[in-house]
Amino acid sequence: MGMLLLTERAAPGPSAQEKAWAIAATVCDPEIPVLSIADLGILRSVELFDDGGAWPAVRVVMTPTYSGCPAVDTIRDDLYSAFARAGYPSVHVELALAPAWTTDWMTEEGRAKLAAYGIAPPSGRSQAGGHSGAVRLALSVKCPQCSSLNTREITRFGSTSCKALYVCQDCREPFDYFKVL
Ligand SMILES: [Zn+2]
Repeated sequence: MGMLLLTERAAPGPSAQEKAWAIAATVCDPEIPVLSIADLGILRSVELFDDGGAWPAVRVVMTPTYSGCPAVDTIRDDLYSAFARAGYPSVHVELALAPAWTTDWMTEEGRAKLAAYGIAPPSGRSQAGGHSGAVRLALSVKCPQCSSLNTREITRFGSTSCKALYVCQDCREPFDYFKVL
């Protein structure tokens, strides 16, 4: 009897998992296109697994910035496309709604990209992100144009609900501030 060849579905190694994370991290937030979903911190996990179909299947877990955010459908479609292009036909996108997303999850790189784009990144930490009983630490909002801390809020709600409109009292430029959530 000849050798029986079994096609083993070997567990994907760490490098395969990292590659899958990198593919998911190419997807950008539709509302702030300079930020990837990894920069924003809404990409929670990317896992390769065996769903019994095409192998390896990908499970992506993300926490939207707001529940019911219309951006979720766009991000989901973009994830399907990104993985399909990379040769992963089976993608499962799951939403984790608790704990709720906070701006604390935004990466340092994401904050730097926001500032370079002209949006002041969240200053301080959210209540949800700290230990229980932590107070919201409000810091001055830095002007993304001239780095002055002499800034003033014009309206609490800017172009989107997550942003407030500020003006710099030194260079006089108005700018969006991504609020601490
Ligand atoms: Zn300024």
